[in-house]
Amino acid sequence: MCGILGICGQEDVAGELLQGLTAIQHRGQDAAGVVTLDKLFSLRKGLGLLSHVFGDVTPADLPGRCGLGHVRYATIGSNDVLDAQPIVANYPFGMAMVHNGNVVNFTELRRTLYDEHHRLLETSNDVALILYTFASELETKNLKALTPDDIFDAVTATQHHVLGAYSAICIIANVGFLAFSDPFGIRPIVMGRKYTAHGIEYVYASESVCLDFLGCERVCDLAPGEAIFIDTQQRIHRRICRQEQQAFCVFEYIYFAREDSIIHDRLVAHERLALGRRLAARCRARGLQPDIVIDVPSSSYFFAAGLSEALGVPYRRGLAKNNHIGRSFLAPTQETRELLVRQKLNPIAGVVAGAKVAVVDDSIVRGTTSKYLVTLLRQAGAAEVYFLSAAPPIRFPCVYGIDMSVRREIIAAHCSLDQIHEYLAADAVLFQELDDLKDLYKDLPCCFACFTGVYPTGVSAELLAQIEQERVCSMRL
Ligand code: SF4
Repeated sequence: MCGILGICGQEDVAGELLQGLTAIQHRGQDAAGVVTLDKLFSLRKGLGLLSHVFGDVTPADLPGRCGLGHVRYATIGSNDVLDAQPIVANYPFGMAMVHNGNVVNFTELRRTLYDEHHRLLETSNDVALILYTFASELETKNLKALTPDDIFDAVTATQHHVLGAYSAICIIANVGFLAFSDPFGIRPIVMGRKYTAHGIEYVYASESVCLDFLGCERVCDLAPGEAIFIDTQQRIHRRICRQEQQAFCVFEYIYFAREDSIIHDRLVAHERLALGRRLAARCRARGLQPDIVIDVPSSSYFFAAGLSEALGVPYRRGLAKNNHIGRSFLAPTQETRELLVRQKLNPIAGVVAGAKVAVVDDSIVRGTTSKYLVTLLRQAGAAEVYFLSAAPPIRFPCVYGIDMSVRREIIAAHCSLDQIHEYLAADAVLFQELDDLKDLYKDLPCCFACFTGVYPTGVSAELLAQIEQERVCSMRL
């Protein structure tokens, strides 16, 4: 999971890029980068948070009216600055690209790029595969009179070659500003615009909160397989290049996206309220009668609010959060995650002591953090602890860029629900029902592969094993 942002306007955009990236820092904290185009590309990237990488950078260091920004969470590939984005190529045009997602046929594509196009990648990041595949397709066109159709044809060919989940933004120097999504539309990408004293500014971003921060209006989410190209005269060209049945990542609504983002016309906060209400029905069916409902801050507030309203049980803030600690799911090792959870969350004993507490989290992946929270709440005096997951049991790896690609790290992949209950040592453990989740999204075709094992792009057992092996070999384990 990463965050991407592109801005093309009439004045220098570096300041706005940094401002917009701050709004999506939650999508990646391993590395950050910005590239702008003036006469030349100016590129700055580094490991760590935006504030760390850009602490000593002024907008004057990154001149240009068009630019890209990226915040990275490393799932595949090393956490080396070489793998940070954006990346830049100089043939057949000066080009820069950022992407969010994961390419599943990485090995095969890298071989093809070398064997057929003599391109040797210097990074293990799959944005290089997308950029060089696209560049190789552009090379076959009349470069002196490149048309929007040529660009869309090159995107279509790229979508045929590159399998997986990706949203990408690309600057083609002196040609235009491009965004496209994979044929299934798995990862989010939204387009916005703003009218300024100097003309129109166009923005592509992972989440609509970037547009809010920048004072832009939301124009549209890109459809599956769609490409939008803005030429140097600021004319907009659109085409659905290669489209399959939509399979938007439902986990964006459950966990990844900010609650103030709107994706495919659905406010994330409202989605989470609805998921909380569905949990309430399951709670009643199980005969659970909590005294209070609490959330695991911060992504679970709206689940808890929906649950509390529907049950008619008060919501309380039962876990105090230190806002200056990073997102624990994104931490590299279990040890770091536990330390972060302890530093981040402190039970408010005066609230939970003596109460039957229903604690809601977005999901249970490894189970270790959930178990730890149950222990903390008991130590704070809770009479009973019911642990509720707003997501159904995650049983299968995600191969589309979310850090759930190693089966042995996913508790429901190898434990029954009874075993999970026993492991967490809660008085009750309750998951969202998959049917309820599917019912909520009957009007928006979504990917549910981590719950069902049915991968929208099709993934063979060999490929799954290979992706898992790559992940095992990576630095996070
Ligand atoms: S497998 Fe799960 S996390 Fe991965 S894209 Fe599909 S819904 Fe999202």
